[in-house]
Amino acid sequence: MSLKGKVALVTGAASGIGRQAALTLAQKGAAVVIADLNQSAADAVATQIIEAGGKAMGVVMDVTDEAAVNAGVDQTVKQFGSIDILVANAGIQIVHPVEDFPYAEWKKVVSIHLDGSFLTTKAALKHMYAAGRGGSIIYMGSVHSHEASRLKSAYVAAKHGILGLARVVAKEGGPKGVRANVVCPGFVRTPLVEKQIPEQAAAFNISEAEVIKNIMLKDTVDGEFTTTEDVANVIAFLAGFESNALTGQSVVVSHGWSMH
Ligand code: NAD
Repeated sequence: MSLKGKVALVTGAASGIGRQAALTLAQKGAAVVIADLNQSAADAVATQIIEAGGKAMGVVMDVTDEAAVNAGVDQTVKQFGSIDILVANAGIQIVHPVEDFPYAEWKKVVSIHLDGSFLTTKAALKHMYAAGRGGSIIYMGSVHSHEASRLKSAYVAAKHGILGLARVVAKEGGPKGVRANVVCPGFVRTPLVEKQIPEQAAAFNISEAEVIKNIMLKDTVDGEFTTTEDVANVIAFLAGFESNALTGQSVVVSHGWSMH
């Protein structure tokens, strides 16, 4: 499916899954805005796309800051003429048992995932509705949108919440041709996951190899990590699927870790 003539904004696109999503959407022909806290890394991804012959721009955006989100979305429309695809991907992980979870850290995790998804959706929808050419909103869920793991209360609660937001946006946006879907990856070896391996080894008093084999990949069908390319290809498919037949759904990309 070609995305020629489409404009995409990807949050958290300076690293990991978001970065690969930006590269893949650009390869399919979309102009891509790389929105991230990390300006220099965002600009580096944009430069890589431009050097390969694509259109891209880096913008600094904290997805929990309404003014910054609105400014980044407005800048996207000003630069490229529209916003057709939003990938609400920015995210972090903080792990603690519930009884010790610092409230400030709970709020930080929930806010980046849920407030960030809400604020970017709100800003993008206004332009999508005004332009009257529909759109595709893709949320970064997780196997943790459907399953639970110890120590991840804030993340699991937020990722479950994203399903609810996506379903409401699917219902409200449907009559205007705006689709909303959630991509739910299993473990992908990005900086977010690399950080968790020693943390979980310490928390459960096991080796790092055991964390990978017995926790992260235990429930997969083949003991394999999901890759950033796997996830980006599903994002590109959802971005290019032009009818409301596929909306309000979650697509789990996890080597069978979760089969919801
Ligand atoms: P990553 O750490 O490689 O990248 C996350 C990016 O988000 C970073 O560039 C960071 O600067 C940016 N970011 C963080 N807070 C931000 C904010 N407030 N505003 C804007 N940008 C911000 O992580 P990743 O593994 O690529 O994760 C991306 C998304 O995928 C997250 O939503 C994560 O929950 C989800 N996910 C990851 C995995 C996995 O195994 N890696 C699995 C399922 C879901």
